[in-house]
Amino acid sequence: MSSPAGGSEPARRPLTRRDALRWGGRALLGAAVAPACAGRSTPPGAPAERGPVLAPVDVAWDRIIRRVVGLRPFRPAGFVLRAERQGEQLIVHNYGHGGGGITLSWGTAELAVREAEAGAVGQERRAAVLGCGVVGLATARLLQRRGWAVTIYARDLPPRTTSNVAGGQWTPSSVFDRAVATPAFVEQFARASRIAYRHYQDFVGAGYGVRWIDNYYLADEPGSSWLVDLLPDVYASSTDLEPHEHPFAARAANRIRTMLIEPAIYLNALLRDFRIAGGTVVAGELRDRRQVAERIPERVVVNCTGLGAGALFGDDQLVPAKGQLTILFPQPEVDYIVVQGGLYMFPRSDGILLGGTFERGDASLGVDTAAEKRIVEGHRSLFAGMRAAPGGPRGAGRSRRIGSWRSHG
Ligand SMILES: Cc1cc2nc3c(=O)[nH]c(=O)nc-3n(C[C@H](O)[C@H](O)[C@H](O)COP(=O)(O)OP(=O)(O)OC[C@H]3O[C@@H](n4cnc5c(N)ncnc54)[C@H](O)[C@@H]3O)c2cc1C
Repeated sequence: MSSPAGGSEPARRPLTRRDALRWGGRALLGAAVAPACAGRSTPPGAPAERGPVLAPVDVAWDRIIRRVVGLRPFRPAGFVLRAERQGEQLIVHNYGHGGGGITLSWGTAELAVREAEAGAVGQERRAAVLGCGVVGLATARLLQRRGWAVTIYARDLPPRTTSNVAGGQWTPSSVFDRAVATPAFVEQFARASRIAYRHYQDFVGAGYGVRWIDNYYLADEPGSSWLVDLLPDVYASSTDLEPHEHPFAARAANRIRTMLIEPAIYLNALLRDFRIAGGTVVAGELRDRRQVAERIPERVVVNCTGLGAGALFGDDQLVPAKGQLTILFPQPEVDYIVVQGGLYMFPRSDGILLGGTFERGDASLGVDTAAEKRIVEGHRSLFAGMRAAPGGPRGAGRSRRIGSWRSHG
C-alpha cells in the first residue's frame, strides 16, 4: 500500500500510492484535465466550484476497534506468471503481487488461465488451484467459467488469509521495484491491470462489497505519476483540484475515481460462487514441490500461494512486506479515500482504516506501536485541518457539529 520502504531512496522504491498521487502528469492528462478547467463559467466559491462536502474522520485513540497486520508477497522484479512442467504436471505460477494483489487478481488470473489452456495436454479439463486468497479465488472462478472442474488446496481459507487483511483500494501500487523490473514485466503488469480494472466493474454492488469512490491525493507540490502515465485510460478521471475545490489543508490535491473492495464481503462471495459452481476445497498445507507432485492428482496446477510460494517452490526473491492497519468505528457518512505523505484512510462498512506502513523484509506479525502512533496522529492532524465545508472554517473537532455532518462519537 502506501509508502513502501520509507521512500528514503526514491529511485529504488517500488511504485507507491504516493507516486500514484503525484498528479497524473499535467502534460499527459492535459486532455482530461483541460475540459474541467475550460468551460468554467462560475466564479471561484460559487456552488458549482466548491466540490463535494466531505465528512471528516473522527480520529481518537478510544475509537480504535481493532488492529490487523499482514505480510504482502513482494518481489522486486514483480509477480511471477509462467508455466513449467514437473513430471506429468503443468504448473502455472501466479504469485507475488506485493501491495496490489486485490487489485490485480482478475488480471493475472486471466493471464494464468491462458497459460493453463495453452499448456494443457489433450482435452484435460480438471485443474488444481493452490491457495484460497484473492488470487486463487479469481483464478479458480475464471477456470470454472471456462468449463474446468476445479479443486482448491489451501492451508488457510477466508477470513484467515493475507487478502482479508488488505485495505482494498483498487490501484496497482507497491507491486514491484521500478529499478529492478524489466520493460517486458511492466508491459505485462499494465495488461493485467487493465484486465482487472474491467473485471472488477462487474462486481460493483453491495453483494460483492465493491463500490466506486473518490480518492484525494494530497501533497505539498503537484507532480506527475508514473502509474497514471502508464495507465492513462484507467486514470482518466485524474484531476488536479484548486484549493477551493477541496476541504483539505494541502497545497496540492488530485482526485481520481477508483473502486474500493471490502475483502470480508468480497472473498466470501467469491468462495460461495466457487462452491455453487461445483468447486471443491481441500484444506491442508503443502510443504514442497515433491508434495505437490505426490498429493495433487490434477495434471494442471495453478500456484496462487502468495508469500507461501517462496518456501513451496524455492523462490528466494519473494520477501514479506509488513503492513498494519488501525481500524476505527465505522462512519458511514465518510465516503472518500484520502492519501497523504505515505498515510491513507479507506472508509469501509466494517470500519475506518488508517494505514501507512510497508516494511520490506519484516516478517513479524506484531503491531508496531511507534508506526501506529505516527499513523493515528498523522490522520488526526489531517482531519483536524480539514475545512468543514468548502468556504467554512478549518478544524474538525471531535463530536463538534460540522456543517451538515455530525461526527459519530
Ligand atoms: C495492510 C495491507 C494492506 C493492503 N492493501 C491493499 C489494497 O488496498 N489493494 C490491493 O490491491 N492490495 C492490498 N494489499 C496486498 C494484498 O493483500 C496482497 O497482494 C494479496 O492479498 C495477495 O493475495 P494472494 O491470494 O496471492 O495471497 P494470500 O491472500 O496470502 O493467499 C495465499 C493462499 O495460499 C495458501 N498457502 C500459502 N502457502 C501454502 C502452502 N504451503 N500450502 C497450502 N496453501 C498455502 C494460503 O493459506 C492462502 O490460502 C494489502 C496488504 C496488506 C498487508
